Amino acid sequence: MNLSVILYDQLSMGISSLKNINKKEDYILICENENDFTDVKHHKKKIALIISAMRHFKQQLERRGFNVIYKKIDDKKNTHSYVNEIKLIKKKYVINIVNITKPSSYTLYNEVKAWSKVLGCPINILPDNRFIVTEDEFRLWAGDKKELRMEFFYRELRKKFKILVDNDKPVGGKWNYDSENRKVIKNDTSLPKIKEIKHDQITKDVLKLVNEKFSSHFGDLHPFNFAVTRNQALDILRGFIKERLYNFGDFQDAMLEGEPLLFHSHISFYLNLGLLTPLECIRLVEDEYYNNSAPLNSVEGFIRQILGWREFVRGIYWLKMPGYEKLNFLNATRKMPSFFWNNNTNMNCLYNCIKETKENAYAHHIQRLMVLGNFFLISGINPKDVNEWYHIVYADAYQWVELPNVSGMILFADGGYLSSKPYAASGSYINKMSNYCKNCHYDYRKKEGEEACPFNYLYWNFLIKNKKTLDSNHRMRMIYLTLSKMDNKKIKTIKHDSKLFLERLSKNEKI
Ligand SMILES: Cc1cc2nc3c(=O)[nH]c(=O)nc-3n(C[C@H](O)[C@H](O)[C@H](O)COP(=O)(O)OP(=O)(O)OC[C@H]3O[C@@H](n4cnc5c(N)ncnc54)[C@H](O)[C@@H]3O)c2cc1C
Ligand code: SF4
Repeated sequence: MNLSVILYDQLSMGISSLKNINKKEDYILICENENDFTDVKHHKKKIALIISAMRHFKQQLERRGFNVIYKKIDDKKNTHSYVNEIKLIKKKYVINIVNITKPSSYTLYNEVKAWSKVLGCPINILPDNRFIVTEDEFRLWAGDKKELRMEFFYRELRKKFKILVDNDKPVGGKWNYDSENRKVIKNDTSLPKIKEIKHDQITKDVLKLVNEKFSSHFGDLHPFNFAVTRNQALDILRGFIKERLYNFGDFQDAMLEGEPLLFHSHISFYLNLGLLTPLECIRLVEDEYYNNSAPLNSVEGFIRQILGWREFVRGIYWLKMPGYEKLNFLNATRKMPSFFWNNNTNMNCLYNCIKETKENAYAHHIQRLMVLGNFFLISGINPKDVNEWYHIVYADAYQWVELPNVSGMILFADGGYLSSKPYAASGSYINKMSNYCKNCHYDYRKKEGEEACPFNYLYWNFLIKNKKTLDSNHRMRMIYLTLSKMDNKKIKTIKHDSKLFLERLSKNEKI
């Protein structure tokens, strides 16, 4: 018989390892390996989502007539190792070949490459067809470019797949409507409600299990409102298209206290698990433009995230691993402050983003980038701790997507390979894009002293500290010109306020 191994983020009926299975003879192996949930101590909600989705996927495979060997996490006979499980199967059956879709993690991929020797049978590692672009295609596009820019990659894909293009020209005349994605949201804007997803017995059992087994992990388990099957994930996608897509473009960068979901799609969890495919999401959303049901800035904005950013960061991951996880271009060495775990802070923007992250295992892009990420960057927290934090706290986090976003996009730890300049900003950006500052202990208008918003002086302190490394960056020229005109007294105050703040941060005092 042939054996197909399905990893926990490969829950797709179309996955390459399920192709050409003989339902009479072949077997599928799926294991809930405890170390998958404890090597990185993931958020409770993420563990529940993954295990429940795995168990539902097994049920669907069986309904379709596949033979599935499934090891539950609390099964006493579970060895929690694919190699050992395959060895056990080999005692009963002759395995001709083990088929597996290439793991999304570099470390696991290397382990799988060694299986054949350990097991004494051929291992067929198939391409990961959950993505639009293959690794070889990306490598070819990257060539020997010194810096990679998402925008050019994205344009080529638009043309190749004929998405929002007309005779190789972008519909509407522009490739990118980013500048029309920055409207400010008002308190009284009516926001669509999230539909409740009913728990079946599988999910109820999983929630009980996670509550008992992973109680020390970060995050709230309840309320649990994730889709755990493909049909439920499709419902979420359709709900987004019906109720949120129209405003997605305008309010993509907006943040509102107490409103974590806004007009975002909340589908990254399902895309990354294999429950949805990127092209189906793109095509459904594209149709809305041609049906005149959604404006171009929303449709293009959404497509750019999936076709552009998602494929781009995944390409960079495979191009730059191993080694990308160790980069620290700006020599950031500060330890992760404890308030990122216990939320004991007076900074209202951070407080809200951490609170929502803990409750939902979700924060939208601008919260991750311009509040949390911006703070990590300008206060010099080391990349290892920051990567670990993002990997733990978000239900959509897998190293292939989390690492380039963290080390490349927010920390500039790769020296500008992924991003043309660091996303550093002062309090006035956060005030413009959110209402967090209204309820804050600090004053976003004040630039110095105890009441001043820490983002204000930390921003300039970051630029001063990294002047030698960053002032040759052409996109930073204007800001360094402004800095060069700043008087010495002001610079001294910035350094003084920053030093005091950062000392308190390192001592884990409440800031
Ligand atoms: C520091 C940082 C860490 C991040 N970590 C992750 C992560 O671990 N997993 C993850 O899936 N996304 C990550 N992102 C990207 C992005 O923030 C999330 O994909 C998005 O917030 C998910 O919410 P949504 O589905 O509502 O997205 P929407 O705003 O509705 O966007 C639609 C889809 O576009 C894709 N997308 C958008 N931006 C990116 C991006 N920068 N990289 C990859 N895909 C993108 C996602 O699949 C998302 O579902 C990170 C971004 C930053 C700045
Ligand atoms: S004043 Fe500063 S710390 Fe407070 S919410 Fe605004 S940006 Fe955040």
